[in-house]
Amino acid sequence: MGQKKFNLNPNTQIYACPKCGQNTEFVAHSMQVAEDCCDIWIKCKCGYDPTAEQTGSRMEDVWGTLDKENILCSLDCCWNELIISNFPIT
Ligand SMILES: [Zn+2]
Repeated sequence: MGQKKFNLNPNTQIYACPKCGQNTEFVAHSMQVAEDCCDIWIKCKCGYDPTAEQTGSRMEDVWGTLDKENILCSLDCCWNELIISNFPIT
C-alpha cells in the first residue's frame, strides 16, 4: 500500500518519460482495488502517469507489495508498454 520513490542507474531499458525526458527517478504506487487484489503502477517523478486513463493496464498483485521484484516488473509491463503504445517511435 502507498507509494515508494526509487532511483535507477542510468540505463537504456526503461523508456524516458514523454513529459520530462528522464528515466531514472520514479515513484511506485500501490492501491488495493479488491479484497484480494492490488494495483501497482509507476509514475515519473514529474507526476506523469501513463496508466492514468488506462487503469486496466496496471499490474495486479495480491498484496501490492512495493518490493524490487514488483517494481521492476511494473516498470516493464506498465511503464514501458504504455509509453510504447502511447508514443510510438517513428
Ligand atoms: Zn517525467
